[in-house]
Amino acid sequence: MTSPRVAVVTGAGRGIGAATACRLAADGAAVGVLDLDGRTAAATADRIRAAGGTAHAVVADVGDPGQVKGALETLAAELGPPVILVNNAGVIRDRPVQDLSLEDWDTVVDVNLRGPFLMCQAIIPYLREQRWGRIVNFSSSSALGNRDQANYSAAKAGIEGLTRTLAIELGPYGVTVNAVAPGYIATDMTAGTAARMGMDFAKLQQMVAAQTPVRRVGQPEDVAHAVAFLVAEDSGFVSGHTLYVTGGPMR
Ligand code: NAP
Repeated sequence: MTSPRVAVVTGAGRGIGAATACRLAADGAAVGVLDLDGRTAAATADRIRAAGGTAHAVVADVGDPGQVKGALETLAAELGPPVILVNNAGVIRDRPVQDLSLEDWDTVVDVNLRGPFLMCQAIIPYLREQRWGRIVNFSSSSALGNRDQANYSAAKAGIEGLTRTLAIELGPYGVTVNAVAPGYIATDMTAGTAARMGMDFAKLQQMVAAQTPVRRVGQPEDVAHAVAFLVAEDSGFVSGHTLYVTGGPMR
C-alpha cells in the first residue's frame, strides 16, 4: 500500500479550515491541522481520528517565519513530507478606509497574505523533492472590492497574483497552485460581522441568501468540496486558477 499524501491546512481549528481538514482526511490524506489555538487544532485532529483518519495538530502563527518552518518540520517528522498545502487561515478587521489603523492593515495583511507567502516558501523544498504538490490559497469575493474591507480586499487580491505566479514557477515540478474565493459562508467570521453590524446572524443570512442565485448562504463544506477537487490526483492540469465559490455570479 502506498503512503497517504500529507496535507497541511492552516486555520484548521474551526470554520472552513476544520471542514477542509476533515474532508481531505476522509478523501485519504494524512492531515496536519495547523492553528494559532492548540485546543481547537487538537479537537479537529481528534474528530479526524475518531472518523478513522490520520491527523496531527500543530500550533503556529502563519505570519511568523520561524513558527511556520518549525510546524512543517514537526509535521514532516510525524506524518511524512507535506505535499498538499491549504492556506486557509484568515482574519478581518473591517473599518472604512479613513478609520483603518496601521495595526488593522498590518494584522490583516500579515495573516491573509504574508502567511500564505511564508507557508508556500517553507513547503517548496518538500514539493520539489517529491516532484508533486498541490497548493490552494484563500482569496475571497471581497478581492473584487467590498465596503469597509480595504485591507482584506487588498490582501485577497494579492493572493490571486501570488497564486498565478507560483503556478508558473512551480508547474515544472509537478505542483499546481490554485485559489478558492468563497462568497458568504456561515462561520464565526460572518457571525462576527453580523454582531459588528448589530444584526441578528440568522436574519443577515436570510438577506444574503435572497440575493444569492442559488438562494442560500454557503457552508464550510461547500468550500471544502472545491478544495478537495483542486488537490485531487486527477486535477494536475488545473493551475493558476481562482475558483469563485459564491453560489452564482455576484451583482
Ligand atoms: P474563521 O471561522 O474566523 O476561522 C479562521 C481560523 O484561522 C481560526 O481557526 C483562527 O484561529 C485561524 N487563524 C487566524 N489567524 C491565524 C494565524 N495567524 N495563524 C494560524 N491560524 C490563524 O474563518 P472562516 O470563515 O472559516 O474563513 C476561512 C478562510 O476563508 C479565511 O481565509 C477567510 O478570509 C476566507 N473567507 C471566508 C469567508 C466567509 O464568508 N466566512 C468568505 C470569503 C473568504 P483562532 O481560533 O485561534 O482565532
